[in-house]
Amino acid sequence: MDDLTLEGFTVAPGQRLKARVPALELADGTVISLPLILINGVRPGPRIYIGAGIHGDEVNSVALVTRALATIDPAQLAGSVVCVPVQQPLALQADHRLPLAQYLKSPLDQVPADAWTCFPGDANGNIAQVIAAKLFGMITQCDVALDVHTPTRGGKYVPIAILPHHGMGAHAKRAEELAHLLATGWIVRGERGMYVSEGILCVEATRAGVPCFTFEIGEGGRLDMDFVETGTQCVLNLLRGLDMIPGVRVEPAVTHVMRDFVGIRASHGGVLVTEVKLGQAVSRGQRLCRIFDVFGDLAEEVLAPVDGLFVRATTLGTVSRGERVATLGVL
Ligand SMILES: [Zn+2]
Repeated sequence: MDDLTLEGFTVAPGQRLKARVPALELADGTVISLPLILINGVRPGPRIYIGAGIHGDEVNSVALVTRALATIDPAQLAGSVVCVPVQQPLALQADHRLPLAQYLKSPLDQVPADAWTCFPGDANGNIAQVIAAKLFGMITQCDVALDVHTPTRGGKYVPIAILPHHGMGAHAKRAEELAHLLATGWIVRGERGMYVSEGILCVEATRAGVPCFTFEIGEGGRLDMDFVETGTQCVLNLLRGLDMIPGVRVEPAVTHVMRDFVGIRASHGGVLVTEVKLGQAVSRGQRLCRIFDVFGDLAEEVLAPVDGLFVRATTLGTVSRGERVATLGVL
């Protein structure tokens, strides 16, 4: 095995390095850096990029990737790992999906504000575009990639792999194989919506020849150790499936491969009471939630518009008209 060199850092075979890569400069001169974990193995194998926390309220993603990598013995590793556990540090500081301080200061200049949607990025662009360009420079030096998320605050997902559009050819096909290696039991193979749009990290990585998909797990805004445990297992499953680390993969009993998400929105504002369990199969017409108005009267019964799987719950206590109350995955 050769040395692993990235962003000016060099790691010998069998070694691990934690470093910080300067990425931005704020008004007072503070330099914002991307945390970087490099692990170089002792045998040939793939180089995997693992990113988390591109949205600042997705702390489960940060916890699970760092926990998974902490278990890796570089002396047993084949290939190498490039990990950026917090892909947008300014959003993490705000504990919000977006780098809120910069967005509030200059809403026009900071649009687009979400680095996740700005790939391949622009080194001469705004904060989101500069971050995306810096990350993309690292991603494209790897063979495969994984982008780990949690729903934004107020949502909770089953552990679910969301693929780039399968019309993207051989690299998208490889991304699908990788998603099966992650073995969450839930895969979405969609053709429309934000997850397969141009500019999304996994879409542009796959287009650039680095097969990649999005992994969503747990709830935004709070750490849930059960989800962290599950997510850690899934990341290790992927590394084992790639023959990078020893050990036995944990396979789910069933893998649900879905073709789309169906988001269901409230027709009335009020207090939201969800009545189905996350992951449950539901039938068309089945009641998913009830919404009560502020007088305590029933304002709406939210019924499933199709047969599906209840893959994403709204965990906010209240909703306004038009806000999402549930998401079904459809087979
Ligand atoms: Zn996210």
